Amino acid sequence: MIATDLDTAIAGLRELIEGAQRIVPFTGAGISTECGIPDFRSPGGLWTKNQPIQFDDFLASQDMRNETWRRRFAMEENFAHAKPGRGHRALASLYRAGKVPGLITQNIDNLHQASGIAADDIVELHGNTTYATCLDCAKRYELSWVKEKFSRGNHCAPDCDCGGYIKTATVSFGQAMPAEAMERAEQLARDCDVFISIGSSLVVWPAAGFPLMAKRNGAALVIVNREPTEFDALADLVVRNDIGDALAPFIAH
Ligand SMILES: [Zn+2]
Repeated sequence: MIATDLDTAIAGLRELIEGAQRIVPFTGAGISTECGIPDFRSPGGLWTKNQPIQFDDFLASQDMRNETWRRRFAMEENFAHAKPGRGHRALASLYRAGKVPGLITQNIDNLHQASGIAADDIVELHGNTTYATCLDCAKRYELSWVKEKFSRGNHCAPDCDCGGYIKTATVSFGQAMPAEAMERAEQLARDCDVFISIGSSLVVWPAAGFPLMAKRNGAALVIVNREPTEFDALADLVVRNDIGDALAPFIAH
């Protein structure tokens, strides 16, 4: 069912949320746009201006590593100042109420953690851009440290003491999905009674697999997204209203 207006959408969401024991939210870029994080894939988004740097290219060349970090620091204003939006806060409220066993996200902005959901209960399919790690020894580096070295070192990306390359803790194009995250996400999708996809176009695998997985295992499927998705016909409720507007009533005060 496609909600015809905001009131119908909220009423539908309320009914499903109130009746549920285990709600698994799956979030994409749309939940963070009101927080000033651009949707990379959208028309006019970053990736239509700058071709994304493939993982193999990052590994192959110092120039590409420098360029990767230059772009990351150019985005720092957006990421450093972003605060959780209404959607994040609503989900954190449901989490605190004990209704959300875990959350799956395609976002790399750390805003679910910032909203109060424990990091251990968040599955980040594409990693996290608010810190960095060594690709060889997995040592964690803060961005402020990398930036300092980068600026002092003539805009040259620094390496780890072990000689490994330092990269934001994100999953790049051409880089393998983390197996553990995938497994946990599948488990959550299979074992919930309401699966809510929020702000994801659900076109990229593995994202596209989760709604099906949830539905096949008996969950009600809710899709909250501005644009139609391939799975709308399968969904129990489709909400095309603004995400913040639709979820704001579920923020506990
Ligand atoms: Zn290292």
